[in-house]
Amino acid sequence: MLDCEIKNGWQQFLEFAQNKFARAEFDNWIDPIKLSSYSPEGVVLEVPNIFVQEYLLDNYKDVLAEFLPQRSNGEPALSFVIAAPTKPATVQSAPAPEKEQTQQSGPEIRLNPTYRFENFIEGTSNQFVKSAAFGVATRPGKTYNPLFIHGGVGLGKTHLLHGIGHYVRENHKKLKVHAITTEAFINDIVDSLRSKSLDRMKRYYRSLDLLLVDDIQFLQNRQNFEEEFCNTFETLIHQNKQVVITSDKPPSQLKLSERMVARMEWGLVAHMGIPDLETRVAIIKHKAENKNLTLSSQVAFYIAEHIYNNVRQLEGAINRLCAYARFQNADLTIDTVERVLNELVQALPQKKITVDSIIQSVAQAFEVRISDLRGDSRQKEIAFARQVAMYLAKETIEDSLMKIAASFGGKTHSTLLHAWKKIAERLTSDEALRRQIQMVQRNLETS
Ligand code: ADP
Ligand code: MG
Repeated sequence: MLDCEIKNGWQQFLEFAQNKFARAEFDNWIDPIKLSSYSPEGVVLEVPNIFVQEYLLDNYKDVLAEFLPQRSNGEPALSFVIAAPTKPATVQSAPAPEKEQTQQSGPEIRLNPTYRFENFIEGTSNQFVKSAAFGVATRPGKTYNPLFIHGGVGLGKTHLLHGIGHYVRENHKKLKVHAITTEAFINDIVDSLRSKSLDRMKRYYRSLDLLLVDDIQFLQNRQNFEEEFCNTFETLIHQNKQVVITSDKPPSQLKLSERMVARMEWGLVAHMGIPDLETRVAIIKHKAENKNLTLSSQVAFYIAEHIYNNVRQLEGAINRLCAYARFQNADLTIDTVERVLNELVQALPQKKITVDSIIQSVAQAFEVRISDLRGDSRQKEIAFARQVAMYLAKETIEDSLMKIAASFGGKTHSTLLHAWKKIAERLTSDEALRRQIQMVQRNLETS
């Protein structure tokens, strides 16, 4: 290939990408890439960070091979350089500079120093939302706006929100960043009204470049505040100022005005899922390492198998194990870990367990649909999971068998009893099932 053909090849890839990719994707991932140099040996691309490089290779290696010279193994002859050094971000780096702090008005929350991108472990359940957050942090106001992150408790929403805040403060120093919980925003309005400084507060919020709002679900049923928030929000978005919002539910399920819901769906709505086993193990190892706690893989797996729907609880377990290891000066065996996990469960406030929560938990653990557990399917896996749920319901809930059975899509109490007997019998010999049921129980009690 001649040099000019190579250069054209990159140009053609860009044109192809521009036509083919969604606008946000192109702006976020492709546009920041620069052609650094080219020769018959291949192309050197300048990328703003390693994520862009990985993204390009993960997703478009094959396409690139069609436009650029190829190596003998069929891969595109490509190499990368990282653009102008971004400040190396270390875990213990200092919080935001003093000057910025004094410019802030209102009850800004301090960013949690450990909630940084580098400390966020990725897996299939959170990869998408992490890249979206990173995209927003690298190019605030230019990609998805707003970015709306939703998902269950303790899964890392606040962590990513603060991650964006840290990154922008360190890499876009001129931008004015404000992180706030929804509760604090409401308090801010109330205080401003009281001290007759509402205009000043409005001006302040509207002068921001990046507004990070945690737990928007607390705006539900607070109509007056909702309107004020919506106005601020619209003003910022119209000026291409970045807004990031977290919530425990997607916009459509929040009890907020249609206007508000529509606004929150303007940009990108990203779901934060429950990390799979492998990711949980990685998180446990990462947290243990940070605390200088040595954990065998066996122990890490054991914890990950037993605590599966909340990362904060994983951390709680590690903290307890740490304390234990320090006092006892003993190696952590599975027995110790089991005891510590049991203590953890007892230390948590008891939660009211309902048939619904049992059905949900069993559906998750046995990988079947909630509707199947309430339905009539006789397919082996489903019928078995349903029997487990019925067993747990009878064991855990103090109510008439008739009522419990009815909650399973209108089954009879004899069906329930039959299910309970079958599982109870099987438990006498099936150790794996016993453990699986214990795991569901533990999660019911702690989630
Ligand atoms: P949420 O806001 O969704 O309720 P948080 O962001 O407060 O959850 O996360 C709970 C805890 O779990 C935090 O200490 C956070 O650092 C940790 N955490 C959650 N997800 C991850 C992850 N993927 N990697 C590392 N730590 C995580
Ligand atoms: Mg949170």
